[in-house]
Amino acid sequence: MSKTKLATVWLDGCSGCHMSFLDMDERLLDLSSQFDLVFSPLVDFKVYPDSVDVALVEGAISSVEDERKIHHIREHTKFLVAMGDCAVAGNVPAMRNPFGTAAILKRAYTENVSAQPQIPCVIVPELLEKVRPVHEFVAVDMYIPGCPPSADTFFTVLTELLAGRTPDVGSLTRFGA
Ligand code: SF4
Repeated sequence: MSKTKLATVWLDGCSGCHMSFLDMDERLLDLSSQFDLVFSPLVDFKVYPDSVDVALVEGAISSVEDERKIHHIREHTKFLVAMGDCAVAGNVPAMRNPFGTAAILKRAYTENVSAQPQIPCVIVPELLEKVRPVHEFVAVDMYIPGCPPSADTFFTVLTELLAGRTPDVGSLTRFGA
């Protein structure tokens, strides 16, 4: 039987969800015989594969680059999971929404900077006016709330998904957990 092709994606999040994912520790090694990690910040693949079975997406959609990425990921993924409160609801990244991008950029890159204050305009992706959760851009198949979801939650969810079952996520975690 072929292994499940698993991806994890890091958009606008703090990486705390990935840290919690890694906190499965030895249990992650036990599960690893059932999947191939084909794309992730945890491995060194640069290109998202054409066909991924399950993708865990951390972070909200904050920039034009995030928006491009999430559409590409959705197009090439069978089962897309919003991982953590930022992906599910915007959470911390969306705290900038009431202020607008111009004020945020000014505050971060000029008002709080003493050496060479300037707003970056090359390489740094253009920000969207509002940070929004993943489901406002693409269809999401499962939500795992939590900031971050616990390692126990990840272990149960991954175990069930790899077995072809649907976990009862609501019994495992909640927004802000
Ligand atoms: S949900 Fe919490 S832990 Fe996960 S990326 Fe967002 S802020 Fe970080």
